[in-house]
Amino acid sequence: MIKLLRYLEPYQWLLVLILILAVGQSAANLYLPNLMADIVNKGIASYNTGFIWQTGLIMTVVAVGGTVCAIIGVYFSSRVATGMCKTLRDEIFNKVANFSLHEFDVISTASLITRTTNDTAQIQQVMVMVLGLLITAPLTLVVGVIMALKQDVGLSWILVTIIPVLVTVILLLLVKAVPLFTVMQVKLDKLNLILDENLTGVRVVRAFNRIKHEEKKFDLANLDVTNVAIKVNQLVASMMPVMMLLINVSSVAIIWFGSKRVAGGTLQIGAMFAFLQYAAQILFSLLMVAMMFIMIPRAEASANRINEILDMEPEIKDPKSTKKVSAKKGYIQFDKVTFSYHNAEKPALSDISFSCTPGKVTAIIGGTGSGKSTLVNLIPRFYDVQKGRIMIDGTDVREISQDDLRAKIGFVPQKAILFSGTINNNLRYGKENATESEIKQAAKIAQASEFISKMPNGFESMISQGGTNVSGGQMQRLSIARALVRKPEIYVFDDTFSALDFITDAKLRASLKAETKEATVIIVAQRVSTVIDADQIIVLDDGKIVGIGKHKELMKSCEVYRGIVSSQLSAAEIEGENK
Ligand code: ADP
Ligand code: MG
Repeated sequence: MIKLLRYLEPYQWLLVLILILAVGQSAANLYLPNLMADIVNKGIASYNTGFIWQTGLIMTVVAVGGTVCAIIGVYFSSRVATGMCKTLRDEIFNKVANFSLHEFDVISTASLITRTTNDTAQIQQVMVMVLGLLITAPLTLVVGVIMALKQDVGLSWILVTIIPVLVTVILLLLVKAVPLFTVMQVKLDKLNLILDENLTGVRVVRAFNRIKHEEKKFDLANLDVTNVAIKVNQLVASMMPVMMLLINVSSVAIIWFGSKRVAGGTLQIGAMFAFLQYAAQILFSLLMVAMMFIMIPRAEASANRINEILDMEPEIKDPKSTKKVSAKKGYIQFDKVTFSYHNAEKPALSDISFSCTPGKVTAIIGGTGSGKSTLVNLIPRFYDVQKGRIMIDGTDVREISQDDLRAKIGFVPQKAILFSGTINNNLRYGKENATESEIKQAAKIAQASEFISKMPNGFESMISQGGTNVSGGQMQRLSIARALVRKPEIYVFDDTFSALDFITDAKLRASLKAETKEATVIIVAQRVSTVIDADQIIVLDDGKIVGIGKHKELMKSCEVYRGIVSSQLSAAEIEGENK
């Protein structure tokens, strides 16, 4: 929590103002009972109407002044708290935007969302409260006691007895409630995770008739959150009546013992009333302090979760001094690369060496889970290798700034992702200033022109969230067009063509050839027909290269490759190929 206070810095002057207003508000509140005692003692007792009017007028002014201070104070406190939380959300978002994929493996998306929304809201709530009470409560407490004693020392034993009781009650509740707050946020994470999974996986849930099952799962998580929330709220809610009881008991005690002293002539009736009001103010501010102590641990739990993100050092960072690589080339070299995912038992890739040159097509083929996606994810440095190195244009990828590195690469991921917005916006994603004709050209090469022109608004048609209003193959083609618009030096297609029918696949690759004549192209594929005419084919098996060469060479030398080919092409086709 303390660490997050640095985000208050821009509001220094507002904070000073809030402080002054708080002092004004407390001063007014504390002065009023005093004036009232005067009216009773000096005005009413001696039938001095002038004095009553005069003091009454002062009371009105003081009361109005105090209220105005309170209103302005709350206004600015809210401004500061909401402003601070906006900054906080921005900071989290910026941090997360710079996460490498490893961090996403560690903290779930659901948790990131809870932290950006719910946790910051907790902080905001407590900030409003703290800003409102930080000055007023302690001030009222201390000055209230002094003022009460000035009215009458004889009744002070009532305060002396009641305050420790009150503090004990508060402490007891705190000890019970605080651990629950952390639990609460974790359960919320869980709930969000289930919700998130269900929304993205809605088709699977339907297709497998798992709606009931998912409902039950959600119900359980929901109940979990509810139970904790009930416990917490019961505790917090039980505080109020206990406090009110204590305050009322003390009021009765003050009137009881006070009126005895008034009857005895040792205490003026006005002083008794003033004492009564001071006691109420003191106990009430104690109550508020208690509330604050309950809210703070809750915010503390949230603050810790936020700090966890803000303190996270992305595994992949730009080096202090980045090397500039020559603007245009596209040489890629893998040099004895070994890579394992965190917590993985065995490396996903081991001892990978090969190189790609501009103008040539490198195809990567292998069974599922053989490490093809992992391999191409290393090129834009989504992950860092453990052993060996990857060189782009002669420079280690870890020595190039991520921006420079990625500007060289047109990456088409295995899972096509589009953003909600128009097709035009989506294609411009990698190059905002692309011209109309560049966009059209890219769409044409990617074999997307036809279906785009059939859409109601052509290039201005809207893609819905997650791209659900276009088919998988169409999404893939848009994702290819998006990479083409960029005109990069290196193209990476991660299993992009498998979602296309054979004819589109062939057409697309033919038109790609012309477009990517000078570029380095890496194609990950499952179909032999996609890779057959590549300049070099890399055969991956279980994270290792088991063959590298042209189709014909591999047919002779590589057992795994032969296996893949024979499983896909008919004997006659293989025969024809070999001739
Ligand atoms: P392919 O693309 O060839 O089907 P991948 O490169 O996606 O295979 O996966 C290779 C291996 O790495 C698989 O065994 C998979 O379980 C593992 N793997 C992939 N992604 C991750 C990840 N984010 N964390 C841990 N292991 C992963
Ligand atoms: Mg893959």
